[in-house]
Amino acid sequence: MRLFDTLTRTERELRPMDGASFRFYCCGPTVYGPAHIGNFRTFVLQDVLRRTLETGGTRTLHVRNITDVDDKTIRDSQKAGQTLSDFTAGWTEKFHQDCEKLGLLDPHIEPGAVDHIPQQIAMIKQLAAKGHAYASDDGSVYFKISSFPGYGKLSHLDERELDLGKTQNARANADEYEKDSVSDFVLWKTRRPEDGENFWPSPWGEGRPGWHLECSAMILEYLGENFDLHSGGVDLVFPHHENEIAQSVCSCGGHFAAHWFHITHLLVDGGKMSKSLGNLYTLTDLETRGFTPMEVRYVLIGGHYRKQLNFTLDSLHAAREALAKLAKGARNLAAKTGGDVILDSVGFGPFQAAWDSLNSDLNTPAALGCLFTGLREAAHLTGVEAAAALAGFNRVLRALGLTLPEEKDDNTEVPESIRSLAETRWQARLAKNWAESDRMRDELAAQGWLVKDGKDGYTLESP
Ligand code: AMP
Ligand code: ZN
Repeated sequence: MRLFDTLTRTERELRPMDGASFRFYCCGPTVYGPAHIGNFRTFVLQDVLRRTLETGGTRTLHVRNITDVDDKTIRDSQKAGQTLSDFTAGWTEKFHQDCEKLGLLDPHIEPGAVDHIPQQIAMIKQLAAKGHAYASDDGSVYFKISSFPGYGKLSHLDERELDLGKTQNARANADEYEKDSVSDFVLWKTRRPEDGENFWPSPWGEGRPGWHLECSAMILEYLGENFDLHSGGVDLVFPHHENEIAQSVCSCGGHFAAHWFHITHLLVDGGKMSKSLGNLYTLTDLETRGFTPMEVRYVLIGGHYRKQLNFTLDSLHAAREALAKLAKGARNLAAKTGGDVILDSVGFGPFQAAWDSLNSDLNTPAALGCLFTGLREAAHLTGVEAAAALAGFNRVLRALGLTLPEEKDDNTEVPESIRSLAETRWQARLAKNWAESDRMRDELAAQGWLVKDGKDGYTLESP
């Protein structure tokens, strides 16, 4: 498949560099509260990328970390009066529950920052030994960005109007800092009173790692110096991913990620999501309003990942209808197979265009559109041909990670008054009382219900 790469700004073919499995890393959640649907846009698109590769026959190795120590997790664990590990364990569990509901495949490895402190210290030692890191007076250790000429390539810093000369002597100690502040960034943060019990010993005294370091250290541990792809939301391009490259390339000398996959942000009602605006949605918020996780997933893949996606509650209603239509189309196709089953086909039949869209820069909205056109094209197929088409449809659906809603039991949907009228009519028909039976059929039709008589009974359809 082909995918746009942030670094080279070109679409490139994705192929495992070791010829065996496609090894990729995704920056995972910071577990200090429930993930919001913006976070899930990113995680769902990463899931579709993996599923598409796997559906196309490529094995994958998917690593996604849990950020369980940083400024925010420490601050909020203290507010909650819990230890950092109890606090982050609770939110990690909630994250896993949401992921499962949204149909996300579990990453093969899900390392946490707290479990990898020695690896992070080892990396700082390497950086210091090679002249890329220095200790400041207060005991914190910083990465010296002037020591790495490659700094800024990913985020195309040279194209930004920044006075590098002015900012290069600046230092940032916070885990997150302003978009346009290019500065030496912290690798090891010296212990402060507000850290409470959350500190570890190191050659530079007690403290904790800076946020950017954990990904570099865990990538080295699980994927090595060179790997196939790295991913996150666009906000991570600078400074987080830029800093990861600096740390990794300068400490171990490899090329780091061969490809960068960044997902554009989700907006809500045309603007940024924020708690203060009251437009920050979690999966639970939407479930409480009666929507299903699959409807949420459908909305999240309903826009191309390189474009902003505007989330509205209306878009969830539209997703519900679209999923119902797909389910109906699939049932009709299944009925045409006449019992012929093709469990897995090599081709995609009428759904080839949907599959091609996914393989062309992960164009999920185009793939969804092609599912509908494919169903229309498949409408005339029968027997084995219908079965092959259905197998192609299901493969695309699996790549998208969609599960279709079950058919509603028609009897439970039919109002009682309609059901009893239909029943009375059936009795009239059995008694060969044709006039009465026809009159009641017209009455049902007037109320929007179509009666179809069979040999042993009737069905009711709402058109
Ligand atoms: P965090 O938990 O803040 O570390 O974020 C987890 C992931 O969600 C990262 O890849 C972020 O870049 C991504 N992310 C955060 N906000 C949004 C958003 N509004 N839309 C899409 N992705 C986002
Ligand atoms: Zn990261």
